Amino acid sequence: MAKLRFKIIHRDKKSKARTGTIKTDHGIIRTPAFVPVGSGATVKSLTPEEIKQAKIDVFFVNTYHMLFRPGIEKIKKVGGLHKFMNWQGPLMTDSGGFQAFSLSEKGPRDTLDGKSLVKINSEGIKFKSVWDGKEMFLGPKESIEAQIGFGADIIMSFDECTFYPITKERAKLAMDRTHQWAIISLETLAKRKNSEQNLFGIVQGSIFRDLRVKSAKYMACLPFDGLAIGSVANSQEPRELVFAVLDWTLPYLPSEKPVHFLGVGEIEDIFLSVEKGIDSLDCVTPTRLGRMGWIFDKIMGIKHKFRYDITKSVYAADKNPPVIDCSCYTCQNFSRAYINHLFRNRELLAYRLATTHNLFFFGSLMEKISESIAEDKFLRLKKIWLG
Ligand SMILES: [Zn+2]
Repeated sequence: MAKLRFKIIHRDKKSKARTGTIKTDHGIIRTPAFVPVGSGATVKSLTPEEIKQAKIDVFFVNTYHMLFRPGIEKIKKVGGLHKFMNWQGPLMTDSGGFQAFSLSEKGPRDTLDGKSLVKINSEGIKFKSVWDGKEMFLGPKESIEAQIGFGADIIMSFDECTFYPITKERAKLAMDRTHQWAIISLETLAKRKNSEQNLFGIVQGSIFRDLRVKSAKYMACLPFDGLAIGSVANSQEPRELVFAVLDWTLPYLPSEKPVHFLGVGEIEDIFLSVEKGIDSLDCVTPTRLGRMGWIFDKIMGIKHKFRYDITKSVYAADKNPPVIDCSCYTCQNFSRAYINHLFRNRELLAYRLATTHNLFFFGSLMEKISESIAEDKFLRLKKIWLG
């Protein structure tokens, strides 16, 4: 494997948006990139071919899920995640920490009080599986070793993500731990001979400006291959703070390294993040909402964040494609009436067709955004979409 090569092709003259490519051993990620989430080693209901056809270059697999199902050893035996899934393209895994916190019964706790599934200390997180209660410990060393076993092109440093609201004292403790764990994450990967996986460091500090600045400066000095911004969209942070965090953080990160925004990806968020210089972001929105019957569309969904609910009875005899003028497989071949019928009868094909369209919608949007940056017209495109 070789380390990633990040090439900025063009910087927008009127904003901080930039377009480029991240070259990995498994192919190229065009940036800015939308990264779908394939938690359980699958972008639910789609084959690798269908993911590529949606103009998606890379997706995320969650370490937490893989640790329990099927387990590291089984994935190692079949030669890593790429072979396991027959996905030949670039791949990302996270550290497992976020799910260990967020999937816990009552959210993170500092002590095992009999109710919480999570115990955090300076070594890492002790938690119980949400599926069978099996206990597991995850620290920076364990997380990186697991991610080495999975073999993704881009892996994440182990961090402590925080939830809102939070006291500054608690946010600082999480940030300090994250900084210590960053060093151990780097050392663990460095010990692995011949591994050229790319490790991203995660900036923490919650919604506190001085903490974010401190964390960004700290991570910028470490030999990471890229950076990520964490703990921003985990709970109910006021929206203006979510994007203020980017203003506080990005100026301190090295501009020659790619920056990923963790867990953010509503349409509006994509524009606001790219405008500030984000190179990739991930979100479950298009896939999870697709399985619930939400179809992404710029025109139809104006009142509902660019999406509409195709399961509504008004579409039961609508012979139009889900999105007029969309060139995805779903819209080229099926009507709203048919997809409405599939959802109402819980037919499996419903999930596949809706996911196919939604990912194509996001993939195509990122393509349009890249083109607009290349022509210094990003802000114009943003205005057309967001008004
Ligand atoms: Zn479509």
